[in-house]
Amino acid sequence: MSTKATVEKLVSLCKRRGLVFQSSEIYGGIAGFWDYGPLGVELKNNIKQAWWRAVVQERDDVVGQDAAIVMNPTVWRASGHLDTFADPMVDCKECKKRFRADELVGAAPASAHGHEAAAKVTRCPECGGELTEPRMFNLMFKTYVGPVEDDASVAYLRPETAQGIFVNFANVLTATRRKLPLGIAQIGKAFRNEITPGNFIFRDREFDQMEIEYFVKPGTDEQWHQHWVEERYNWYLRLGMQKENVRVRQLDRDELAHYAKDTYEVEYLFPMGWSELEGIANRTDFDLRRHAEFSGRDLEYFDEETGEHIVPFVIEPSAGVDRLFMAFLIDAYDEEEVRGETRVILRLHKDLAPIKVAVLPLSRQEKLVPPAREVWAIVRKHWMSQYDDAQSIGRRYRRQDEVGTPLCVTIDFDTLEDQAVTIRERDSMEQVRVPIAGLVAALRERLEE
Ligand code: ATP
Repeated sequence: MSTKATVEKLVSLCKRRGLVFQSSEIYGGIAGFWDYGPLGVELKNNIKQAWWRAVVQERDDVVGQDAAIVMNPTVWRASGHLDTFADPMVDCKECKKRFRADELVGAAPASAHGHEAAAKVTRCPECGGELTEPRMFNLMFKTYVGPVEDDASVAYLRPETAQGIFVNFANVLTATRRKLPLGIAQIGKAFRNEITPGNFIFRDREFDQMEIEYFVKPGTDEQWHQHWVEERYNWYLRLGMQKENVRVRQLDRDELAHYAKDTYEVEYLFPMGWSELEGIANRTDFDLRRHAEFSGRDLEYFDEETGEHIVPFVIEPSAGVDRLFMAFLIDAYDEEEVRGETRVILRLHKDLAPIKVAVLPLSRQEKLVPPAREVWAIVRKHWMSQYDDAQSIGRRYRRQDEVGTPLCVTIDFDTLEDQAVTIRERDSMEQVRVPIAGLVAALRERLEE
């Protein structure tokens, strides 16, 4: 973690610069829900794109899909969510605060819900009041499909994207005529009625997940598990996360979800301590067996090499976009002294930066407007860019540094004579002069290679 980043500074920067807003803020907000502003949506899309590129586009063994959020409710019976996707909840009888009992005892939250409080805490950590007995609370949001609100129309907002992949396993296998190992990747919304949302966008009630279910032959599962742990860890480093802030931790036996044979977490050193970014679980054949049983459908795979029907094992790398968003911001946040002033910089990887190029005329002088607009028109076709002519050039550089824009292009009075502009680099603040005719090539060299 950057020692300079605090959650308070981040929340303030995110609001001020249009990265993240509290949902329905003008009505006092709603706990656990957040809105992403003009720059936030760019960063979020860039994270998703970088993931999709690495796990789908650049591989020959993973395909994508996009399943519906609301599914047949039997899915949640088969997956175990209706019975076990619950956390123990306690209330303070005095101050009425609500807590997750397993968090009060300091137990590391297991990689799946369904864990009882390990030991009993009877006093409120805030006011010392008496706590209620723990009650199990199911985290799925319930709704009704169609006009009648009865038991037959109950449905749920998915608490994970994974099940949408398991139920489509046979469809995808047939449609793509693939052999194992085969991965199916998906990015989408998930909903959990968390008892204690918090730490900004770390724990939300609505969030985006990026999940892969990687189907393998039993017996090869451990080797593929290692493969994915390495792949995923390296992905974070490739996107610029500082090595000392990211680690892989193998979960202890007693932390494992009931279906998991083994699980690793990629963790980040957040201001509140090491916390999970992504879980990478060996889910065995649990899900496909359960769905075969509950649906009555054949979800086996015919192995041509051995002539056997098998139920594949599954390796599942599962990451939350919002948590990654927060981690990338914290990691990139920096402050430095420049000529007696504090410069705030987001040292975001260029692939993640919301704005790649800012086009800045030196002043609002009339003569500079046509060439500056012309340059912006050229740049816009290639990259997400911004035109800014308000205030001094120094202030505008700082504004771009603060949101991580890797390159600024400045149009000045010499441009009128020499048809050249200045490229200024965010981290080094170095400036080079390039002809407008070669600008796209010069920017491409810096942004794409
Ligand atoms: P935690 O222990 O933190 O509650 P989890 O182990 O239940 O998380 P998983 O079910 O493994 O989480 O979900 C996979 C990923 O989805 C997590 O690594 C995290 O990045 C993300 N995620 C899970 N719950 C939330 C949430 N409430 N808000 C934001 N992201 C979440």
